[in-house]
Amino acid sequence: MNDNEIIQRKTKILATLGPSSKTIKKIIELTKAGANAFRLNCSHLEEKDLEEYIEKIRKAEKIINKPIGILIDLQGPKIRIGEVSKNDNILESGNSFFIDNSKEIGNSKRVYLSNKKVFKSVKKGHLILIDDGNIHLRVTSVKNNIIRTKILQGGTIKSNKGLNLPDSDLKTSALSSLDKKYVKIAINFDVNWIALSFVQKPSDIKELKKFCDNKISIMAKIEKPSALKYINEICEIADGIMIARGDLGVELPIETVPGWQKEIIRTSRAKGKPVVVSTQMLESMTSFLTPTRAEVSDVANAVFEGADTIMLSAESASGNYPVEAVKMMHKIAFSTENEKNYNNIIANQIEQTPNTTPDAIATAAKTLADELSSPIIVCYTESGSTGIKVSRVRPSQTILTITPVIHTARKLSLVWGVLCLLQKDEENLEKMINSTKITVKKSGLAFQGDKVVITAGLPLKVQGTTNLIRVTTVK
Ligand code: PGA
Ligand code: MN
Repeated sequence: MNDNEIIQRKTKILATLGPSSKTIKKIIELTKAGANAFRLNCSHLEEKDLEEYIEKIRKAEKIINKPIGILIDLQGPKIRIGEVSKNDNILESGNSFFIDNSKEIGNSKRVYLSNKKVFKSVKKGHLILIDDGNIHLRVTSVKNNIIRTKILQGGTIKSNKGLNLPDSDLKTSALSSLDKKYVKIAINFDVNWIALSFVQKPSDIKELKKFCDNKISIMAKIEKPSALKYINEICEIADGIMIARGDLGVELPIETVPGWQKEIIRTSRAKGKPVVVSTQMLESMTSFLTPTRAEVSDVANAVFEGADTIMLSAESASGNYPVEAVKMMHKIAFSTENEKNYNNIIANQIEQTPNTTPDAIATAAKTLADELSSPIIVCYTESGSTGIKVSRVRPSQTILTITPVIHTARKLSLVWGVLCLLQKDEENLEKMINSTKITVKKSGLAFQGDKVVITAGLPLKVQGTTNLIRVTTVK
């Protein structure tokens, strides 16, 4: 894979790690293929597995010498079934199927469910959906922690798959005690993002932020109809948004998901919050080397919509071709960004800019870079906020963020168009600018005579103070 292409690609790739991609060697391969950050899905990991994965990613990062972001995906109030036998696992439509509270391994007749609230909330006639809606069950009776159902739509039932209850009203808190254990690991290991599943309201995000003492950026996974009601408020309070199309397409009529995808991307982008499009983007590549035309179109569509990040789930975690899936995703995104209509489409989507100094500076940086045919906008940033503000206006130029903070460099791996360089702050701004001119020339990002637009917040060490814009010429 061409390294230059990977650097030039604006849309970031978030790849989920799992059994198909758990060695340091594979993690390095995935990064070289174009993955910018990795997702660790707590639904499938024990606490010690999570720690091991984080350590492996950090080792890979050292070897390739490039910041890699880590996102920990909390299960939240997601309901999952227990283990199922691999031999006796075909559910036939029309048969009965039981969901119970006995820990024995499940089969084609029954399965274990640990969540006790479900047995209290589910009523006769309710629909139960398993594995992103692949299996449909209708409740025929509920008695003594045993739910009897009729199989409406059968299929193969697999261990630990999600269970959705679109008809039932389940009162659960956003952050389970198990989630809290994973958050503690995330804090100890200085993880960059935590994604919260099944967010229903803005206070779910507030609760998590408070629990991790605002040390980690929080991503709200939008996969419940109730989250859509509060999408503006959730975008306001979260640091990033994930369009979790798997569960969203189960909880809502599936045909409404593309419209919501557009709406959520617009809302997130208007507020300058990185937005991730996830689930089934290249699903067929779990078994085949070539994706379907529809999947290619889906990835390209997310890129055209200006998503910050596109995500791989089973494709990179448990599929047969994790590296090939990342390579394919890179190729589609890179090619789409180089389509002749791309810059126009992206530029036309920019919403009205919020009325703040950092946002005005970001807009000014883009205008200056356009007017001066500058190839690059440089942002000095502590927390990453200057880089995110400049990314928000989607300039066609390279955005180079320079930060002394490794956490920031890793966090920005999910932000559209941002390249990140880890570099100690110089004593003063003039020294910073001089060293930047040398850096951009050395790295081939700008040439002699090119104008470089620089944004920063002064004083340098204080977070969230973008208040300066400068133009300098490469010597
Ligand atoms: P999950 O989230 O893979 O953790 O369920 C993504 C989705 O629902 O699309
Ligand atoms: Mn989900």
